[in-house]
Amino acid sequence: MVIELNFEYTPFIDFHTHQLRHAESDDILEILSINFGENKVKNLYTIGFHPWSCGENFSEPNLDAVSQIFEDDEKCLGWGECGLDKLIDCDATNQLLIFEQQLDRANRLECSIVIHCVRAYDTLLKLKPNYPKIKNWVIHGYARHEILAKTLMNAGFYLSIAPHEKSSLGLLKTMREMPIDRLFLETDSASWLDIRHIYELVSKERKMDLDDLKRQVIENCKNFF
Ligand SMILES: [Zn+2]
Repeated sequence: MVIELNFEYTPFIDFHTHQLRHAESDDILEILSINFGENKVKNLYTIGFHPWSCGENFSEPNLDAVSQIFEDDEKCLGWGECGLDKLIDCDATNQLLIFEQQLDRANRLECSIVIHCVRAYDTLLKLKPNYPKIKNWVIHGYARHEILAKTLMNAGFYLSIAPHEKSSLGLLKTMREMPIDRLFLETDSASWLDIRHIYELVSKERKMDLDDLKRQVIENCKNFF
């Protein structure tokens, strides 16, 4: 694990972003989500085959290539994002097949996995027990209500969220009530969001000291990856 907990250095962690916006900053640590085939400057990152790419670049040799990255590069923290999205125009059977093959690889590598899930939570909950060696699972960009959140956390998932003042009441309730040791914060591809502002909102709403929140998320990261 690369992230060191050091009280001189307690960064905000942007757990899932598609664009480095603070690469030069000591105060913000960004974990870049790379869709296989993208050539991005690599800080800490996760890599996989995004469901939106709908099988583009997906092949056995490329699965091997991603597995090899895990062997070679300690900056690669986890597999993903990968997952299921019922709102995109991409054959559901094919999506599932691609997702399952990635779960299988992550299971063999015994690494952690970052999930993109839209309207496919039942399928996800059914799949999880089939891959017991995957270290930890997180659903990134979670934006639903607290009841589903509870079901997912009971099944062992972490949740990464990007709350702001105009988020749905359900997400805001999730943010206030979810166990703090399952929480990550992110900006994803929303360039108008500022990770520091997200932390401030969570700290205010949970009546938690900002530095304590930062330390907690760092701890969560260390446990997760
Ligand atoms: Zn993403």
